Amino acid sequence: MQPRSRVTERADVVVAGAGIAGVSTAYQLAARLGVGKVVVCDPLPPLTLTSDKSTECYRNWWPGPGSGMVDLMNRSIDLLESWAAENDNIFRLSRRGYLYVTADPDRLAMMEREAHAISALGGGEVRVHWRGSGDPPYFPARPGGYEDAAAGADLFMDGDTLRNHFPYLSRDAVGGLHARRAGWFSAQQLGAWLLEQARDANAELIADRVVAVETSGGMVRGVRLASGASIATRHFVNAAGPLAGDVGRLAGADLPLFSEVHRKISFRDSRSSLPRSAPMLIWNDQQTLDWTDEERAELTGNAELAYLTGRLGAGAHCRPEGSDEAATVLGLWEYRTDVRTPIFPIPDDPLYPEIVMRGLTTMVPSFGAYLERLPQPFVDGGYYTKTRENRPLIGPVGPTGSVVVGALSGFGVMAAAAAGELGALHVTGGTLPDYARWFAPSRYDDPDYVALLAQMTDSGQI
Ligand SMILES: Cc1cc2nc3c(=O)[nH]c(=O)nc-3n(C[C@H](O)[C@H](O)[C@H](O)COP(=O)(O)OP(=O)(O)OC[C@H]3O[C@@H](n4cnc5c(N)ncnc54)[C@H](O)[C@@H]3O)c2cc1C
Repeated sequence: MQPRSRVTERADVVVAGAGIAGVSTAYQLAARLGVGKVVVCDPLPPLTLTSDKSTECYRNWWPGPGSGMVDLMNRSIDLLESWAAENDNIFRLSRRGYLYVTADPDRLAMMEREAHAISALGGGEVRVHWRGSGDPPYFPARPGGYEDAAAGADLFMDGDTLRNHFPYLSRDAVGGLHARRAGWFSAQQLGAWLLEQARDANAELIADRVVAVETSGGMVRGVRLASGASIATRHFVNAAGPLAGDVGRLAGADLPLFSEVHRKISFRDSRSSLPRSAPMLIWNDQQTLDWTDEERAELTGNAELAYLTGRLGAGAHCRPEGSDEAATVLGLWEYRTDVRTPIFPIPDDPLYPEIVMRGLTTMVPSFGAYLERLPQPFVDGGYYTKTRENRPLIGPVGPTGSVVVGALSGFGVMAAAAAGELGALHVTGGTLPDYARWFAPSRYDDPDYVALLAQMTDSGQI
């Protein structure tokens, strides 16, 4: 969809941001709810700031408290599946699942408790596999497509049973959980399709930045753009991703957000270390990397790098991407949290590819062959912009007519379908689903919610 050069003077709704959140909201407003004139403003080409940097994975498997996250993701996946059926799956929705792996028996016991809790929240049935004759059947995922797939989760309570199905995993693994309503898709293709549908329903994309939100009497009256143009409107949606805090301030709202840098590598797996049919693989444990004595001494002597010899965070993860011929693997691991005010391009971390490969080798030992000589990696990334409890902000904030669809952290691609729908319902005053209350910015005014915040220690984020 090409941006227009002449600016509309009046709109029913102006959306700031043409990332996946903004285009999904515009699609719902224009194509589903029949709002007359929807204008999306973004100085960048659509989907190019964060939404094209993701691993493009989705899952309905989210911890509580409350069923808000599971409900939001189930709704999002319902929408993704219905769109895939509508457009012949042009965004290649797949359903291989997320496989969380652990080498720690205590962690496995925790995963088991958490699995039953997530199941009770609506995640689906848990099938427990013990190496026993009475085990339920395990249905392997199909490499492509999303139909007729298993749901819920398969919990492997011993390493041998797990390795029967996933023989490339480490001998140290003592078990794992395969979440089944999960997989990946092309976020770019989905975003392009949503934008096209929105345009067919009279939405416009304008290549410009919102620099002011005009209000009077506590209501939105219009926006001003960097070009000097103005658009009169009563409804404004802040879908500015990592810049949502800045855009919130334009509308007089101080949003409770912060941003972390997250990077990813993609490399050619020329040694076929990872089968092309693998699911998303996550090492669920913290880990200490293997270094030679010489390497260890060098790192310890460097104040900035000494932490690499200590215990590093859980969550190293990878998956195959694209065609078998390309043999691409995506690898990610935020071994050190880096919270900062977003700058672009994101700050460089020259050691990232090597540390990720080392971290992944703990889970898939055959990656170790690359440690001698790393394959040429492509590195990119962006920000997880999040609230302290790592749940999105979707709903009215600031002057009447102003709505935010943000704080989508590391789950914005999977949540975008339902987040955009929810944002659009807030704009039009439609009937809200029950889960809306979990994400409304006003939740922080509720003492019961504030009390719950203390329990939200495990955000489920990787
Ligand atoms: C390495 C990495 C891996 C990830 N993996 C996954 C994953 O597997 N699954 C998943 O679901 N999510 C994943 N995510 C998260 C996901 O990518 C984000 O949550 C999502 O892309 C956020 O979308 P957005 O539309 O909110 O923001 P963006 O895509 O950043 O879009 C915001 C847009 O707003 C525009 N904007 C800013 N200010 C203004 C202004 N003043 N006026 C107009 N426009 C403005 C920007 O130019 C930008 O285009 C990952 C993220 C990273 C970084």
